[in-house]
Amino acid sequence: MDGGRPTAPIAAIAVDAFTIPTDAPESDGTLEWDATTAVVATAHAGGQTGLGWTYSTGAAAAIVRDHLAAVVSGREADDIAGCWSAMHRACRNLGTRGVVMHAISAVDVALWDLKARLLGVPLARLLGRCRHAVPVYGSGGFTSMSDEQLGAQVEGWHKAGCRAMKIKIGEDWGRCVDRDLDRVATLRKLAGPSVTLMVDANGGYERGEARRVGELLDELGVVWFEEPVSSDDVTGLAGLRAALRCDVTAGEYVADIADARLLVGAVDCLQLDATRCGGYTGFLRAAALAAGHQLAVSAHCAPALHLPVAAAIPNLRHVEWFADHVRLEPMLLDGVPDVHDGAMPVRLDEIGHGYRLADTKLPGAKGFDPR
Ligand SMILES: [Mg+2]
Repeated sequence: MDGGRPTAPIAAIAVDAFTIPTDAPESDGTLEWDATTAVVATAHAGGQTGLGWTYSTGAAAAIVRDHLAAVVSGREADDIAGCWSAMHRACRNLGTRGVVMHAISAVDVALWDLKARLLGVPLARLLGRCRHAVPVYGSGGFTSMSDEQLGAQVEGWHKAGCRAMKIKIGEDWGRCVDRDLDRVATLRKLAGPSVTLMVDANGGYERGEARRVGELLDELGVVWFEEPVSSDDVTGLAGLRAALRCDVTAGEYVADIADARLLVGAVDCLQLDATRCGGYTGFLRAAALAAGHQLAVSAHCAPALHLPVAAAIPNLRHVEWFADHVRLEPMLLDGVPDVHDGAMPVRLDEIGHGYRLADTKLPGAKGFDPR
């Protein structure tokens, strides 16, 4: 330390991965899964350790080990932007989106936690907190669930005070529209008249079907239609945005500000995922770009991870309190905050983001072979 400024060189970056089975097989409109893999990076400098993670695949751990660790090691721990650029440059020939950006994201989050720990401050304060709590919405309602299972989930969201709730539609690539709409009507009954209804089709519909479904969702009072068509169909998103009353949203696959820029004009709210878009560094950059276009940001999944950075952007709409990650984060980490009155309190009583790895609580998890 020099005058309170961290000048320690980064001594090492370590990585591990844990694959945790879900309670039961799950599905949305376009994917089925039965496990989640958390890739965990730790950054070491000046006797402190920073912790970061992404939800990805073991290949992201191999990227950290084989392509990022050496690039970052030896650099000053306070130079996060320099580390980010160095990692990005090192992966040029691999492609810097998808799994590679998941890996960069995990390291970036670890570096922010490390810097806050070296400074001895809460991470939310270092990032520039502008609120005391971040609003969340309940998210789950997988197409694989029965009405009874959805009822139990909605009850949990009510108990947490969620004022907005989101379910998956677009079942079987948009082939089950009647069931999609029945489930939305069921959600309205379960949620009550005052809850904001949201749906996510995960790109399951084609343009015409998405417009027809969207018009019926408008009649049902749905205000959020996420990925009605593929996020790659930016023109389709923009057309639906113009045709429908509900907000059209996307952004969970954004990897950098160039990706985010493509969605400007096509969405009513930009979704960003710090575990996929370059960590807290990438999230802040893309959120600033959104603010410059009068767009609000909603954080995608990983609620505990997003808490400190969501607290630091003025144009936040909410954070997704995603059922799989709400179950997983307390298994992976110690220190995950509870949700009360539909919001997560910002942590100002802990140095860094306040989370520590709790791998002893991971039943059935498979670790990463570091060789
Ligand atoms: Mg989504």
